[in-house]
Amino acid sequence: MSRISKELDSLILSLPNRNAALDRNWRAPIIRTAFRLQNPGVLRELEVIQSVERSAAKLQAVHQARLEQLLHHAWSQTDYYREVLEACGAVRAGRVNLDRFDDIPFLTKDIIRSQGERLIAKSLPAGRKPHTNRSGGSTGQPVRFWQDNVYWDTTIATRIYHFSTVGKGIGQREMKIWGNEPDLRKGTIGWKAKLENFVYNRKFEQCWHLPEERILAIIRHIDEWQPQMLWCFRDGIDGVARYINEHRIRVHSPASVVLGGATVYPFMAQAIENAFKSPAISAYGSREVGAVACQCLERGGLHIATQAHRVESIGPDERPVMEADGELAITPLLNFAMPFIRYRIGDRGRMTQRQCTCGRAFPLLHALTGRVVEVLHNLKGEQIDPGYLIWIMAEKINNRVLKKGQIVQEEDGAITVNLVLEPGASMPQAQPHLAEIRKAMTLVMGSEATIRFTFLDDIPLSQSGKYPYIVRRRSLDSAALAL
Ligand SMILES: [Zn+2]
Repeated sequence: MSRISKELDSLILSLPNRNAALDRNWRAPIIRTAFRLQNPGVLRELEVIQSVERSAAKLQAVHQARLEQLLHHAWSQTDYYREVLEACGAVRAGRVNLDRFDDIPFLTKDIIRSQGERLIAKSLPAGRKPHTNRSGGSTGQPVRFWQDNVYWDTTIATRIYHFSTVGKGIGQREMKIWGNEPDLRKGTIGWKAKLENFVYNRKFEQCWHLPEERILAIIRHIDEWQPQMLWCFRDGIDGVARYINEHRIRVHSPASVVLGGATVYPFMAQAIENAFKSPAISAYGSREVGAVACQCLERGGLHIATQAHRVESIGPDERPVMEADGELAITPLLNFAMPFIRYRIGDRGRMTQRQCTCGRAFPLLHALTGRVVEVLHNLKGEQIDPGYLIWIMAEKINNRVLKKGQIVQEEDGAITVNLVLEPGASMPQAQPHLAEIRKAMTLVMGSEATIRFTFLDDIPLSQSGKYPYIVRRRSLDSAALAL
C-alpha cells in the first residue's frame, strides 16, 4: 500500500499550515510544544483538518485515500476482513474497489463479540501502538475493542478543531460537566487527569448526582471561573439549566455550551440556551468511534469529520439514505488496531446534502434522532419519533407536581408513563397533567393505543449515567437490545 501512503503524504504535505487561527491564548504555544514532544500526530492531524476545511475536493481526496488505505490494511491484516472484503468484492487480489463499499456487510456488536480476535490486526504500520478500550454498555453488555495511538491523536485533534468552531481556541478555559467518570464519582481525580486539566485549561464538575447543593456548586463555579465554553453531559446540564430557569438565576454566559453523551432534543437545547444565553451545540461521538461530528456556531447541522470518518445513514432497505432518518453506520478511517467498517453503532440520524452557511467543507449530519433502541411503534407498526413523546412528557415535569418521567414500551401500541411526584405533591394534583399527556400522546400513538400511568419512588440513572427517558422491554426487541 505504499503507493496510497505516498500519495496521501504528498497531498497532506502540500497543504498550507493554518494553525495560527486556533491560538488565542498564552497556553497555546505550551500546549503545542507538549503535543510536539508527546503526540506529534495531534498537530499533524490538526494541520490536515485546517487545510481541507474550506475545500470539498481536498477533503474528499483525503477521505478516499484514507478509506482505501483502511480497507487494504483490514484485508491484509485481519482474518475477518480478508474473508468479508474478498467475498463482497471490495478488495480483490489486494486491489481496493471503493465502488463496492456499499456491499460490505455491516459490523455489529454481536459480530465484534463473536469474531473477537479475528478482527484484531496481526501487525500494525511502524509507529502505531494498540490500546484496549470498551464501550459504555448503555444498551446492554459493554464491548471490548482495540484502538491505536493514531486514532487517539485524531480524536484529540478533531475535538480541538470542533471546539475552535464554537468559540474556544487552544488553551482557553473549558469546563467539563460530566457524569460517568469513575474518579469523579469517588470525589478524586488522579495526577494524570489533573495534569491534563492544567494543560487544557479545563475544570471538571461532576453531574452524576444532582441534589440542589451540587447544582448550586456548579453554578457558582461557572460564575467564578467564567469558562469560554461548557462541555456537558446532556442530562447533567439539563438539570442545571432547568434549575437556573426556574429560579431565574443570572449566570456567566460562555461562548457556547457543547452537549454530548446522549441525543439532545430541541426542548433541552432551548432550556440550556435560556439558562446560559449561549448557543447549545450538539456534538456526536463515542468511545468506539471517537469525535465524529459537531455543530459550528451557525448550527446548520453537525459537521462530520470526514477526513477521519465515513458516516452513513442506513434506511429500511439496508442501503444508505439522505434527507431521511436511518441508523448510523460509522467507519473510523484511522484505527488500524481493530478496524471497524460500517459499524452499526445503535444511533439514528439524518444525513443531508445541504451546506452550512459557515462555508466549511465538512458535510452535515442534519440531526441525531435518538438511539435505535428508543424508537417506539404504534399499533400500525409505524415508527414514532421518541423525541416528540419525551417532549410531551418533559413539558409537564418540573412544574412542582411531577419531578421525573419515563416512557416504557412493552408492546407495539402500548405505553406506560412512569412518573415520580415532587415531594409534597398529591395524585389529584397530578391528574390534569396526566390528562394532557394522554391527549398529546394519543395524537401520535393513535386513539386505539393504550397509555398507562404508574407512579414510582424514583427513576435511577442507567449504568452509564444516562437518564433513561425511553425504555423498551427485552421481550419486545431482544435483537436490538442485545446490540
Ligand atoms: Zn458550519
